[in-house]
Amino acid sequence: MIMINCLHIGIDDTDSPDGMCTTYLASQIVNKFRDNGIELIGHPRLIRLNPFARFKTRGNGGVALRIPNDDKAGLAKEIVLAEVEKLSMFDCDNTNPGVIFYDGEITREMEDYAFRAIYEFITIDEAEEFGKSVGCEIHKFKKGRGIIGSIASISLPLSDYTYELLAYRSPENFGTKRQIDYESVYEMDKQTFPDTFENIDYSEDYIAIEPKTPCPVLYGIRSNNVEALKKAKSIVKVNEEMSDWCIFKTNQHTDMHIQKASNISSMKQFGCYEVTGTVKNKPTIIDGGHMFFYIADESGEIECGAYEPTKNFRRTVSHLRPGDVIRVYGGIGEQNTFNIEKFQVIELNDVEYKNPICECGKRMTSAGKNKGFKCKKCGNKIESDEKVPIKISRSLKNSQFYETPVSARRHLSKPLCRMDFK
Ligand code: ATP
Repeated sequence: MIMINCLHIGIDDTDSPDGMCTTYLASQIVNKFRDNGIELIGHPRLIRLNPFARFKTRGNGGVALRIPNDDKAGLAKEIVLAEVEKLSMFDCDNTNPGVIFYDGEITREMEDYAFRAIYEFITIDEAEEFGKSVGCEIHKFKKGRGIIGSIASISLPLSDYTYELLAYRSPENFGTKRQIDYESVYEMDKQTFPDTFENIDYSEDYIAIEPKTPCPVLYGIRSNNVEALKKAKSIVKVNEEMSDWCIFKTNQHTDMHIQKASNISSMKQFGCYEVTGTVKNKPTIIDGGHMFFYIADESGEIECGAYEPTKNFRRTVSHLRPGDVIRVYGGIGEQNTFNIEKFQVIELNDVEYKNPICECGKRMTSAGKNKGFKCKKCGNKIESDEKVPIKISRSLKNSQFYETPVSARRHLSKPLCRMDFK
């Protein structure tokens, strides 16, 4: 195998809630590279990092590009820095771009750093110190917070991955209503699911490929392979100019943020985990429409939440009952509550204890505390207080997974249609 000497380029924190998108900036850079005869190695990467990072704009995503480290590398660096200067939303306090150039092999310690950027919080100083220690060329704009995500974006190994095709709008249309033919999106989903996924939330009649923010993205289609994306793009119709499009290789929908917790008490706030526990109480809904219940194991207990935006998922959760053993996947947020992304039923408690049935066929009633049961119909009495176990039917099923709807799905959450991808 011929090893190509690569230049890795990481870019993050260029956008704001009012506009721009780091992927758009990357696609502009890719165009400029092409104009100058600089070819990318592989697809650009869109890497989602810690979902709880404080200063994220939306989905905490950084971008990485790879090119040959040849006589055009200097020109490539100039192009990247000029585009970041030109397109970043510098007026926003929370926009602090960071660019990283790195020529060499991605080392084990860089991979470890990338996983830390998904699981933990990293400071700008820490990232800078780490970047320098491994030989990154670091460019900070304003506070330069983006270097945290830039280093992670070039370093993260992708054992499981997906692709996203991002189509971009013409600048004169930024901020206006997107002109997407919804019928064609339904057709695209019909023809390409499950190779593409997260296109539509049928329960909410919600077109998930269309962003709801004023960013340059016209739509984004997610898939397990590039061919399905190209087919999907040929089916989706839009009534406005598509200025450009680009396919990113990503860690979206891989569950890369989820760590296996050995027990409940080992989990920490702002971490994302998979953990098994026994349901302690019947899930109840509170003001605001959020649903809560506790799970417990030998080490402790934690409150689990299915929040209002998860819509119909709350109905599924409401079918849980005390004694059910479930494996939950999700993250521990602000309120120290485990925010469920999906769960698997390990073992349903399908036994209910009821008053015994009298010889006459009628269910008996309690005769008072510690006084057994009596039959109201024939007067028969039983001294024992022991209720009898009865097998009940459940709407949930053992081994089955249940997930939040597409409209409430995190970028990193693996949907059930991808559970066989490792
Ligand atoms: P978009 O998804 O629209 O591109 P965003 O949600 O990715 O926006 P950014 O503008 O990239 O938001 O801001 C996220 C910031 O958080 C970046 O500066 C990034 O470097 C930083 N960051 C990423 N991961 C971590 C982490 N683990 N700890 C601390 N900061 C982080």
